[in-house]
Amino acid sequence: MTIPSLLESWFIQNQRLLPFRANKDPYRVWISEIMAQQTQIDTMIPFYERWMTKYPTLQKLSEASENDLLKLWEGLGYYSRVRNIYKAIQMIKMNDYIFPKELDDIKTLPGIGPYTAAALASICFETKSVAIDGNVNRVVSRLFAIQDEQGSKNFQNIVTKEMEAWMIEAIPSVFTQAMMELGALVCTPKNPDCNHCPIQKHCSAFETNSILNYPIKKASKIKPVLHKKILFARSNDQKLALTKDSSDQLMKGYWRFLEITEIPEDAIYLGHQHHVFTHLIWELDFYLVEFKNDASLMWFSPSEIEALPLITAHRVSYDKFKARIFASGS
Ligand code: SF4
Repeated sequence: MTIPSLLESWFIQNQRLLPFRANKDPYRVWISEIMAQQTQIDTMIPFYERWMTKYPTLQKLSEASENDLLKLWEGLGYYSRVRNIYKAIQMIKMNDYIFPKELDDIKTLPGIGPYTAAALASICFETKSVAIDGNVNRVVSRLFAIQDEQGSKNFQNIVTKEMEAWMIEAIPSVFTQAMMELGALVCTPKNPDCNHCPIQKHCSAFETNSILNYPIKKASKIKPVLHKKILFARSNDQKLALTKDSSDQLMKGYWRFLEITEIPEDAIYLGHQHHVFTHLIWELDFYLVEFKNDASLMWFSPSEIEALPLITAHRVSYDKFKARIFASGS
């Protein structure tokens, strides 16, 4: 049997029953693909189910405001993904709610890059387009023991060439998902389960007992660390000041508490939080202070704060310190 047919039979027997695999509706697959970028499947499933309950169709989604979608996405991170979904649904609405079918048309939707477009075209429309992500790179690099660094031109050429050759004889929807599933369940980064791998006989890294050497990676950069002081400014009518300032270009559209450079004399220290992004780290110190209702700031009651889309780093500490923030006389 060839590699595509081995993978396809394995996938048919071993695939996980995931909510977005119930059918090939491009809307459902699109949202699942965007949510699964940079998010573990187990983490994204509850978000996905909430989303589909609230917006089961493209028509329903088009009725949502950007704020509604930001709120529903809160906690998933990488918020440009949901802002792009909002932009994309406006375009789909203009096209009578028809999700584009051709690869090049799918790519015109905001937030859909070559990988997602190829995944959607192959899974939903049986197009022979190859979807190459980190999972696929890892599997192919091990199969052929690719000596080039992951991300280099040579590396990408080899992976693309092999995937295109396999795709010629593959069933696109099954093959694309089989590659994804193999990378997620069997050929995992740290502990690949080679004894249950359907393509073990073809694998050079397995044969040479050098699995964990692949893919060859560039030395990773050290993340910059930013120290920030965050203020819960509480008014005498038990409201807190929030801002939508996103001059740091992070989480545009989300609310956050006030960032300060000087700690007010009467401020109370509440605690610390370590928050890791892909490219940087925030070390946050939170303070509480009584503030006069300052008209230049925007004030929100606890119930209003619950309903607002709030950046995750601040939401976590707000939930942790809430009881102390609103305790009388703290
Ligand atoms: S044999 Fe092991 S390393 Fe090779 S593709 Fe299968 S799981 Fe990955």
